Amino acid sequence: MSLSPNDVALVTGASSGIGEATVVALRDRGIQVHAAARRGDRLRDLAQRTGCIPHRLDVRDRAAVTRLGETVPVDILVNNAGLGRAIGSLSSAGIDDIETTIDTNVTSAIHVIRAVLPGMVERGRGHIVNMSSVLALYPAPAALYGASKAAIHMLSRDLRQELQGTGIRVSEINPGRVSTEFYDVAIDDPDERARTADSGIDEVRPADVADWIVHVVDAPWRVNISQLEIVPTEQSYGGSQFVPFRPR
Ligand code: NDP
Repeated sequence: MSLSPNDVALVTGASSGIGEATVVALRDRGIQVHAAARRGDRLRDLAQRTGCIPHRLDVRDRAAVTRLGETVPVDILVNNAGLGRAIGSLSSAGIDDIETTIDTNVTSAIHVIRAVLPGMVERGRGHIVNMSSVLALYPAPAALYGASKAAIHMLSRDLRQELQGTGIRVSEINPGRVSTEFYDVAIDDPDERARTADSGIDEVRPADVADWIVHVVDAPWRVNISQLEIVPTEQSYGGSQFVPFRPR
């Protein structure tokens, strides 16, 4: 299933960052794009610029997600809405940070798939692109966020197996640092936010990720790009740490 003008895409988290850039890139290819997020003003502006169809949607609203799946015959799902509350410290995370992060990144992402998958199976065509992270694959001091994206990693792998024989493709995208509004949402304290957000490197841009998402969904039908790491040249992962413990 390479891209065809008849394809219908749904992009969640379309009001900024990677999702917004993906809407632009898919619209550039002439695809009908349904763009979903909570910030209606951003979506209206995006719709004016690109001709996408805006949906003011909270992905945590199960009934609204179900309705969207029933009304839009989605061929391509870019399951992108996500955030990283309490990203740097589980020990100082609030109850709401944990609930919001897991519900948005894991439970809601699964419900969005549940809402569109039966239609894909019935039509015998579809592509689910799950937005994961390199932090699904490599350890980092981001336990809550890493755990949420690791769930998306295994979800994507397991879905590949479950959907064998249906003609539906599943891809997982694993970006490293991308310059978006992610840290504005993740961190409340302005000083900590400034320290964390300023990586000092030439970060991947949302349009870079969007270009690769288009490449993934435009691959010949026989090709399933199962996993794709897109990271800044100046960022690497892994290694071990030696930090002596000084008993009090
Ligand atoms: P942004 O903060 O710019 O975008 C996040 C998007 O998710 C927004 O459009 C926001 O829309 C939407 N969103 C969040 N919660 C909800 C909700 N409850 N209902 C509907 N939409 C929601 O960050 P990014 O573009 O960076 O993030 C996109 C994805 O990429 C996320 O899954 C993130 O985890 C992942 N990622 C980001 C990386 C980075 O370095 N930036 C690295 C690796 C992965 P609104 O608030 O209007 O609802």
